[in-house]
Amino acid sequence: MKKVKKQEIQKLLSQWQQEFTVFVPSREAGVAEMVVWDGQDIGFLEWYRNTVIPPKENFLLNMEKMFDFHKADGNYSLEPTPAEDRKQLIFGIRPCDARAISIIDMVFKDAYEDTYYLSRRENAVLVGMGCLNPYDSCFCTSLGLGPAEATDVDLMLTDIGDYFLIEEITDKGKELLAKAEGVEEATKDDETRAGEVKDAAVQKVTRKIDVGEIEKRLPASFDNEEFWEKISAKCVSCGICTFLCPTCYCFDINDEMLKGDGARYRNWDSCSFPLYTQMPMENPREEKWRRVRQKVHHKYSFYPMLFDVIACTGCGRCIRLCPVNWDITQTLSGLPAEAPAGTEK
Ligand code: SF4
Ligand code: SF4
Repeated sequence: MKKVKKQEIQKLLSQWQQEFTVFVPSREAGVAEMVVWDGQDIGFLEWYRNTVIPPKENFLLNMEKMFDFHKADGNYSLEPTPAEDRKQLIFGIRPCDARAISIIDMVFKDAYEDTYYLSRRENAVLVGMGCLNPYDSCFCTSLGLGPAEATDVDLMLTDIGDYFLIEEITDKGKELLAKAEGVEEATKDDETRAGEVKDAAVQKVTRKIDVGEIEKRLPASFDNEEFWEKISAKCVSCGICTFLCPTCYCFDINDEMLKGDGARYRNWDSCSFPLYTQMPMENPREEKWRRVRQKVHHKYSFYPMLFDVIACTGCGRCIRLCPVNWDITQTLSGLPAEAPAGTEK
């Protein structure tokens, strides 16, 4: 393993900036998100816990133009948006958010090859940073993750005092580090210290859910209208929990055209909105309880059926950021043990 002095981080980022567009946490725009590094500021090392806007935004843009089109004499011609070829390095991504990107890869890379997403994803390097001060709303350990575990990243940094210990996880990460100046060999003591720090971080994640019990109870709850009505009562369908969830990936597609010239855009959408499922003759999820049920089932039941993984990392954003304190862990922990009498299974 390697290590780097904290005061050398700026130099390290500057070296990487020669090859990559480097993204770091910033709250300049009012909320914390990954933004292009200005070449100077490493103040985020002091305040950063996690971003409000998850790094999925680096790969699945909140709005992007898919192509331009032109209509003439009843025919259309298309002009594709050029693929993005910039190489991104995302510095400081938390393990939960790196896992979330692996989870949405299953849709945009494995199930279907989305060239827009892949042009960014395949040119990206993820440099993780252990989360040593998790929020009360975090419950990653219940989902098999650790707040400082090296998962789904190329390099992983752990704060061990004056230094960051660096784990080389992938060949891409090793290559990157081999070229870097200011990096030293870690000692056994450094590794022991990192182990202690990681164990302490795990102890700080006190919110828990019982995934085994949820897997048993959730299918039986599907037709329990009374339960879903009750737990969705206070939701105001604002969509924040889905827009800011690192594993939510739904989008809408719109065409805009003026006098024969137009463009097709896609933008983030949310299953919390009644319009999301509006069809010409009906809307299968007009009632709010059906939409809340969909959100929970999609993450904890439908996604595991399709990809064998729960589409939630326990990052806690949907709890921290909901304007009415709707809490997915309360819902999951409150699932009825039995389907109500008379409901189909
Ligand atoms: S953030 Fe809260 S209020 Fe908004 S849609 Fe999600 S659960 Fe409902
Ligand atoms: S459902 Fe909530 S806790 Fe789970 S990944 Fe999404 S925002 Fe994070």
